[in-house]
Amino acid sequence: MMRQYELVEKVAAYDSHLDEDLLNRAYVFTVQAHGTQKRASGDPYFSHPVEVAGILTDYRLDTTTIITALLHDTVEDTVATLPQIQDRFGPEVAKLVDGVTKLSTLELRSEQSKQAENFRKLLLAMSSDIRVLLVKLADRLHNMRTLQFLTKPERRRRIAAETMEIYAPLAERIGMQRIKDELEDLAFAELYPEARESVIARLQFLREKSGDLIPLITDELSARLREAGIEATVGGREKRPHSIWRKMQKYNVGFEQLSDIVAFRILVDDPMQCYQALGVVHQHYATVPGRFKDYISTPKRNKYRSLHTTVIGPQQQRVEVQIRTHDMNEIAEDGVAAHWTYKQHVASTEGEGYRWLHELLEILERADSPEEFLEHTKLEMFRDQVFCFTPSGEVIDLPRGATPVDFAYAVHTAVGDSCVGAKVNGRVMPLRTELHNGDQVEVLRAKESGPNPNWESFVVTGRARSAIRRFVRHQEREEYQRLGRAMAEKAFVGSGHEFTEKAIEQAAKVMRLRSADDVYVDLGRGQVTPRELLAKIFPGERWRPKDAIDAINRVLPARLRRRRKTEMAVPIQGLRPGLAVHFGDCCHPLPGDRIVGIMSKGEGVTVHTIDCERLAELDDSSERWIDVSWDVEVEAGAGHVGRLKAVLANEPGSLSSLSTVIAKNLGNIFNLTFTNRGPDFFEAQVDIEVEDVKHLTNIIAALRATPQVNSVERLRG
Ligand code: MN
Repeated sequence: MMRQYELVEKVAAYDSHLDEDLLNRAYVFTVQAHGTQKRASGDPYFSHPVEVAGILTDYRLDTTTIITALLHDTVEDTVATLPQIQDRFGPEVAKLVDGVTKLSTLELRSEQSKQAENFRKLLLAMSSDIRVLLVKLADRLHNMRTLQFLTKPERRRRIAAETMEIYAPLAERIGMQRIKDELEDLAFAELYPEARESVIARLQFLREKSGDLIPLITDELSARLREAGIEATVGGREKRPHSIWRKMQKYNVGFEQLSDIVAFRILVDDPMQCYQALGVVHQHYATVPGRFKDYISTPKRNKYRSLHTTVIGPQQQRVEVQIRTHDMNEIAEDGVAAHWTYKQHVASTEGEGYRWLHELLEILERADSPEEFLEHTKLEMFRDQVFCFTPSGEVIDLPRGATPVDFAYAVHTAVGDSCVGAKVNGRVMPLRTELHNGDQVEVLRAKESGPNPNWESFVVTGRARSAIRRFVRHQEREEYQRLGRAMAEKAFVGSGHEFTEKAIEQAAKVMRLRSADDVYVDLGRGQVTPRELLAKIFPGERWRPKDAIDAINRVLPARLRRRRKTEMAVPIQGLRPGLAVHFGDCCHPLPGDRIVGIMSKGEGVTVHTIDCERLAELDDSSERWIDVSWDVEVEAGAGHVGRLKAVLANEPGSLSSLSTVIAKNLGNIFNLTFTNRGPDFFEAQVDIEVEDVKHLTNIIAALRATPQVNSVERLRG
């Protein structure tokens, strides 16, 4: 077990600015906090945090990380509290300890729904600071080293599997190769002891068969490089049983060759020498085609840089050679930890954790490059999810394909309901934009706003969809209610009765509805006609609509008549096409046209132009007629479709000049059909999206001024 002074000496050996006093206090704190607690091995519990800290000193990590390692189990397992830690060791250590504590409750092999939640926690803890993960990995490494003391085999297997599937890939991802190798081998030994035994036995056999080739090849490579004037350190390293086994699994091959079990490494001072050394190796030994890789010019995602080649060695054996600089080697072995050594901890702390996390998330997104082994890991299960961040760094997990609207509703229904736009990674993006892993999303909100029914076409979460539907249903009901009330009022006055809320409440009782509002909604929807309503309230009375309208006209002076007309006008602003109000396909009413609304059972109101031919058929059911008018302010620019019939010269270019003229006048061609085609002329029906009738009239005028256009007229019906 590592002693207090040993730990302090180890840190002091690489960090001359070490605050020894603080480190000592952390040591004492953890010893006192864990008190008489014991590990399964029988050791005092505090030996564990001390060993974890010791592992991290191998990576020469900064004092903050080492202290965090010492304290990492105190909040979870003892009476110590975060405020105490903050008090004694500062906010940075407290934040890191909190992150590790959150991570320690993860059970990533639990059922699917919980896995996502746990992964969320993992990302959350990591997003604040990557050092949380460094401590967690060292913690896991020490627990794996002492795994044999756990008595329950299921528990050992669960921990080993989790290590293999989650922590080893994470360690690899952040480039901590040594920790990854050891984690994998320890887990391998627990999960597949027979497979490991057979790999080791085979290694032993090959070693004996080929004799002591490693020093031979090492010496020969060194000599060649020296001859060429390159100063280099050459070494041979046996591959790990687990990586050999995985390769056998993957390629369905046995292993025979030295290159299968040993990799030689040439370390030089600068990148230029890497290529020179490569030249020396290739000059003296025949290369194996297809095995050369240049990770110096194209580094791996985890920043790994090296040259790889395979050659036929001195004994006609295949030999795998890796060539890199000492600096590259440090990154290859320590990965992200190399960023956190004592010497650099002032430099690039800001955003560092976040950047690594972002890259990790990117991997989840497209783990298709050959050096990624995600297909073997549990990390793969997160591929159909995306993890995004709020501006304050909170993780929001969403299904793949989710949009900012889904994000907004996942944060809170109120946020979704008031969403008007979104910034993705600082840029304003359309709300239908598909979000990607690691995106930071800021929802832009407006108080007076509500969800747009069109959102339903692109949201992917049930939560967003149902919230939008609920809102639309509610708003629709309000519209029907407003419409129904206007109709009831008109029917009352028209039939010579005074309109009172009380009378409608009466009707509600007769109709077995809950309230007057329900009556209005039914009326608005066309479930009940005004005539039927009146019959319920004034049974036995015969209502003749024409008489009634005449009656109003008789009673009211002209000035008031006009006023009443506007008052009773159904405000069609706010009524959405396709819901309460339709626009006639026959006459394509445009703002500015004189219009009338026709009630249909179960369908609501259809708006026609006052001169639409269709109205002739409806002449004698005038109780269905409603006064409607445009609300110019709201409706302008809303995009209505006007229909034209154009006769064009049958010559090349006529269609293009037609569309050019329409486009120049800011109309948008919605649909174009040929109705008649002759040798000299052809006839087309053009549907154009315009703002209002004036806009359409302008387009008609412009078309009439176009040479290839013979005639143009607006179509109604
Ligand atoms: Mn621990």
